[in-house]
Amino acid sequence: MAWSTSDRRARLPKDWPARRARILARDHATCYVCGRQATEVDHVRRGDDHSEGNLKAICGSCHRAKSSREGGSATRWRYQARRRRPPEAHPGLR
Ligand SMILES: [Zn+2]
Repeated sequence: MAWSTSDRRARLPKDWPARRARILARDHATCYVCGRQATEVDHVRRGDDHSEGNLKAICGSCHRAKSSREGGSATRWRYQARRRRPPEAHPGLR
């Protein structure tokens, strides 16, 4: 399932900044997931539906959580790249 985030950004509509501001105003800048202050706009159903019915205000952390759940391996890749050294074996502890 290949679905890249950068590709999605490229496909946002030209008036996306204005649309985004409209959604944030409509939803009183309140995250629809956790109720905290929203700074971003989420596509409720993933894909290319940028109509206002498919857009809701969301906060950054809920947005990231949702996006990584839906899509992408991007976050996981970063974790793998950063992973610590494997623990050393303790042969005496058996
Ligand atoms: Zn939230």
